Amino acid sequence: MPDCIFCKIVAGELPCSKLMEDDTSLAFMDIGPIRPGHALLIPKKHYETTVDMPGEEVAELLAHLPALAKAIVEATGADGYNVFQMNGACAGQVVPHVHFHLIPRHTDDGVAFGWPAGGYEEGDMEKLAEKIRSCMT
Ligand code: AMP
Ligand code: ZN
Repeated sequence: MPDCIFCKIVAGELPCSKLMEDDTSLAFMDIGPIRPGHALLIPKKHYETTVDMPGEEVAELLAHLPALAKAIVEATGADGYNVFQMNGACAGQVVPHVHFHLIPRHTDDGVAFGWPAGGYEEGDMEKLAEKIRSCMT
């Protein structure tokens, strides 16, 4: 994808602070970290969202997550970490090349994601669950 910044990073046309790579996956430091140590794990192949990826390639990519998260937590002395992955501009995706954010977290680090927990009218959750099940292929 010629205009994709992450494809350019994969191709070595743009610099990155690399954490790990293999034939299909790359992890590097996020230049706009929510917290120091914030890293991105990406497939080398261009896919816009995870829905576009074959499941086996998602599995191959995410196989790196535990070791990467463990190293980030150890290096930053974090108490835990978040994994985020945005799909689509409406969900906050800015770079349209699949990437998983790994963000080290410390107790009382002041980061708040403002999760607006909602609810369902009686019966609506099960109706929607049934609709989702019927859409599964
Ligand atoms: P998202 O909103 O999930 O698309 O996030 C894109 C992320 O990519 C942001 O956290 C940016 O800070 C990060 N980012 C953008 N350009 C670069 C780059 N050249 N090197 C490292 N991280 C980048
Ligand atoms: Zn790309």
